[in-house]
Amino acid sequence: MLQIAFSPVYRLRLPDGHRFPMLKYELIHEQLLYEGTCTEANFFGPAPVDDCYVLGVHTAPYVRNLKALTVDPTMVRRIGFPLTPDLIDREWIITQGTIDCTQKARRDGVAMNVAGGTHHAFPDRGEGFCMLNDVGVAAHYLLETGQSKQMLVVDLDVHQGNGTAVMFGHEPRVFTFSMHGKDNYPLRKERSDLDIELPTGTQDEQYLNTLYDTLPGLIGRVQPDFLFFVSGVDILSSDRLGKLNVSRDGCKQRDTFVFEQAIRHGLPIAVSMGGGYSPRLTDIVEAHCNTFRVANSLFF
Ligand SMILES: [Zn+2]
Repeated sequence: MLQIAFSPVYRLRLPDGHRFPMLKYELIHEQLLYEGTCTEANFFGPAPVDDCYVLGVHTAPYVRNLKALTVDPTMVRRIGFPLTPDLIDREWIITQGTIDCTQKARRDGVAMNVAGGTHHAFPDRGEGFCMLNDVGVAAHYLLETGQSKQMLVVDLDVHQGNGTAVMFGHEPRVFTFSMHGKDNYPLRKERSDLDIELPTGTQDEQYLNTLYDTLPGLIGRVQPDFLFFVSGVDILSSDRLGKLNVSRDGCKQRDTFVFEQAIRHGLPIAVSMGGGYSPRLTDIVEAHCNTFRVANSLFF
């Protein structure tokens, strides 16, 4: 049975009018239950992650400042959320959700977090709604516990996984692959192990062919024993930040292809959700729900 990390704390209370679509987390949970893709038995609530794993990839001063709510105001502005105890609890819980997903994926083939993919979190700073890098912490956890010798991060969020790229710039056992919009945030890109930059306006055919031409060969070359998938839906044409022109069906085909590759190569895959900023919440929720639907139908 598909296991999905989710907790009511994933929805952070934000000031009225805040631009982040925080409602999406509980709406995805509700939609998957309502339509019968999932029952409550599919969901589990993570505990907060142990600091020792966070400190494997984040610096001690940064972690201390997050927990003491003493992060520099300039950085808080760049993160984009008001710095509150609830926010910190949420980050620690979401991050453990991705660690838990690695364990369940090793058992079941796949497991998914209804949040995470916070790839703009650097070792010593956060930005772009990201504070802890959940994939980074979980990848470190797999290395530390001897559960993986080589990982591949497939980051298909429309924004570059800049924090993850820096975090593992000198760690060959975590290969970072990011396919993103060339003209999107962050304007100053970091260097992943493989970056593919897509031009503004890229449509389904070009998007999917690029992925089809890249991922199988990459798996063959990197020879991972574990996959992380950041499945952001900000590639949609409706997204107000993404600048690409991919349809909801194209996005679903993307997810299908990634999962099929995992299955074909016998690789466990942990999915973190990544971004989605379409003005209509239904566009975001439907596209994210597709990722869960596809995983559920292909693996179980
Ligand atoms: Zn994004």
